[in-house]
Order: sequence, then C-alpha cells, then structure tokens
Amino acid sequence: MALSEDLLEILACPACKAKVELKPDGTALKCVECKRVYPIRDDIPVMLIDEATIEEPAQDEERGRNR
Ligand SMILES: [Zn+2]
Repeated sequence: MALSEDLLEILACPACKAKVELKPDGTALKCVECKRVYPIRDDIPVMLIDEATIEEPAQDEERGRNR
C-alpha cells in the first residue's frame, strides 16, 4: 500500500472536487462522482484531467449476446 489514507483524504477530483477512491488493484484513483480514473505513477497520483480516463460502465449489450 503506497498511498496513505491521509493523502487520500486531501486528494480530490480536479474536475468535480469530489473525493477519489483507490482502485482495488491499487494502480489508480477513481472519482466517486464523475468516474474519472487518475493513474498513479511511481506512487504519485496524477490528478490531472488530461491524464484521467473515464471508466465506462460495463456494457452487457455488446458482449454475451452471441454464444
Ligand atoms: Zn470527478
């Protein structure tokens, strides 16, 4: 666990100022509001909108239809 909880407390999404959560695999921070995912590089969270990716909700329509 590279990031401390204290650090997580003060970090906020630069896009919507909501709080971010560490992803279960520990490789990124995810905004609870806009679902942007901020990468963590060398244990440093990159809190830049330009660097963020937006996590798409799982789409069941495209896969699983043809078996
Ligand atoms: Zn956000």
